[in-house]
Amino acid sequence: MSAAHDGACHCGGVRFRAHGAPKFVSACHCESCRRTTGGAFSTWVGFSSSDVEWSGDSPYFHASSMGVKRGFCKSCGTPLTYQSEKWPGETHFLIGVFKDPSPFTPRSDYMIEERLHWVKPVAEK
Ligand SMILES: [Zn+2]
Ligand SMILES: [Zn+2]
Repeated sequence: MSAAHDGACHCGGVRFRAHGAPKFVSACHCESCRRTTGGAFSTWVGFSSSDVEWSGDSPYFHASSMGVKRGFCKSCGTPLTYQSEKWPGETHFLIGVFKDPSPFTPRSDYMIEERLHWVKPVAEK
């Protein structure tokens, strides 16, 4: 295990450390991400759940659709994670909850057909 990536919600109650390199970094333009994060699109950094250590408060989960749960801090409301039966054993983190998000660059745009018309694909090709 090389790099460790620390992160937390805004109030610092929920904290985590993800080990190693992410499996992917991807922007998602779907409506569900928009509604659950409040952002025009979201950028996700995916790790194996077994490479993630949690500390502090436990995240709460919202079932945003069938087989999908989105983790957030119940104290400050920061959205943190996405987990889906479609990607078993993975925890996807919103890029903004890492203490240092600068090592992560999106390599793909997901659900681009649902993007807001003014949003350009963000992935570096
Ligand atoms: Zn919090
Ligand atoms: Zn999405």
